[in-house]
Amino acid sequence: MTVLPDAKLYIDGVVRDAEGGKTFDIIGPWTGASVGVAADASAADVEAAIAAARRAFDHTDWSTNTALRVDLVQKLYDLFDANRDRLSDLARNEAGAAMGAVGRAHVDMAMDGFADYIRIFPKVEWEKDYGVRPAFGFDHDRKAVREAVGVVAAITPWNVPFYVNVGKVAAALLAGCTVILKPAPNTPGMGAIFGEFAAQLSFPAGVLNVITSEDPALVGEMLVADPRVDLISFTGSTGVGKRIMEKGAATLKRVFLELGGKSAKIVLEDAPNFQMEIASSMLVFHAGQGCAVQSRLLVHKSRYAEAVAILKGAYAAFSEKWGAFDEPTHIMGPVVSQRQKDRVMSYIELGQQEGATLIAGGKAATDKGGGFFIEPTCFADVTNDMRIAQEEIFGPVLVVIPFEDDEDAIRIANDSAYGLGGGVASADLDRAMKIARRVRTGTMSVNGGMSIAGDIPFGGYKASGMGREWGVEGIEEFLETKLIAVRL
Ligand code: NAD
Repeated sequence: MTVLPDAKLYIDGVVRDAEGGKTFDIIGPWTGASVGVAADASAADVEAAIAAARRAFDHTDWSTNTALRVDLVQKLYDLFDANRDRLSDLARNEAGAAMGAVGRAHVDMAMDGFADYIRIFPKVEWEKDYGVRPAFGFDHDRKAVREAVGVVAAITPWNVPFYVNVGKVAAALLAGCTVILKPAPNTPGMGAIFGEFAAQLSFPAGVLNVITSEDPALVGEMLVADPRVDLISFTGSTGVGKRIMEKGAATLKRVFLELGGKSAKIVLEDAPNFQMEIASSMLVFHAGQGCAVQSRLLVHKSRYAEAVAILKGAYAAFSEKWGAFDEPTHIMGPVVSQRQKDRVMSYIELGQQEGATLIAGGKAATDKGGGFFIEPTCFADVTNDMRIAQEEIFGPVLVVIPFEDDEDAIRIANDSAYGLGGGVASADLDRAMKIARRVRTGTMSVNGGMSIAGDIPFGGYKASGMGREWGVEGIEEFLETKLIAVRL
């Protein structure tokens, strides 16, 4: 198994060790053993990064020199592009990505999104004319200008770390902000590589900083509390998101939150290619560790038994097709950590206690080495009030729920604290569109429509968060609007 290069801090233009040389092990999900070492930042390191980012924003031309920013962000893209193998290595060894998954969300889709940001950047509206209006005996010429919000702290999760890091860092830099990237403790290398490459490209000191830390909360809490940080862009769990909003209130932080999900896919009785539609609903890609995965499958009651039979067959056929590190066709590997494994296993036990019927999987897979492997698992006879239907499991566990009619499907889909993604399948496009419009989520896919890409906005309703990442909207999250009126 590859041993990753050391993940170092990048502060004020310098790639370096943590104060006092403290490090921590990166635990590989495939083996449960160390695959590398990361710098373990101290409070003094965080302080240095905040000071550097503040200084770079306030005292350099970074926020106004658009040509410099576009040039450097493009060069950063090019360097990542030339190092896709390293990104792939990191995704596999740190996040536990299977080889077949790397090409999708982990590296290639993230690079596509990176390219999209650069391509659509010229669409950002920097000035808007509101025209002349008389008041108090004078005419007033009004225009709005957009300006970078300031110092951004980007706090990111482990599941698709490169994708989320790009989503925040590339957009914030293009917008003219300076950035402190804080990756999750499980995936520090995928953050550190941003620092390494920025240093190679001679980014101005302080414009981008990367801090890795074993303690999941220490760095983030400092960033959230510090008045010199203007905006927190956070992707992670709903619980931590709430805490960030609460703690950020003291300094009235701008907060942007991408949180959890429990998205529903609604399969109507007339769905075209019903067999394929159901079989492809297996929650196996990256072991179900995706925020917008469709983890509740809603099937019309007239075809529910048929759907359960299809799923039984599909899961049985899949049983030998996952969990090999070197197999390019595999899209599912282990879950990320022992902690996550314990959490997912406890939900599988809970599902059985709640009276759902286990139709596939249900056990830890012990035949694949020492890593954190869980069998692809599916529950039928699930009602939407069960905890396995309400709570985000973030593992390879699908729940299948019957519905009576379209109204009932919409009611069940919306009977959730979350509202991130979802889908509907029907031969009747009008009917599908009516349902898509009424499900309260940030994205909806009709008949498999691709609702996630770098040039379109992504984000959540309700407990799935606030604000939008990707697309022009994703860049504009990092801008303030200033209205200037001139008395004529
Ligand atoms: P997490 O909330 O535990 O951690 C996310 C990040 O926050 C990590 O970098 C962590 O170190 C940091 N953090 C932890 N405690 C903190 C605190 N008190 N203050 C500031 N920062 C803190 O989430 P996770 O376990 O890393 O990731 C899984 C979760 O992320 C899932 O709930 C998933 O749905 C969500 N997620 C959402 C999206 C999305 O776009 N909506 C994308 C990926 C993951």
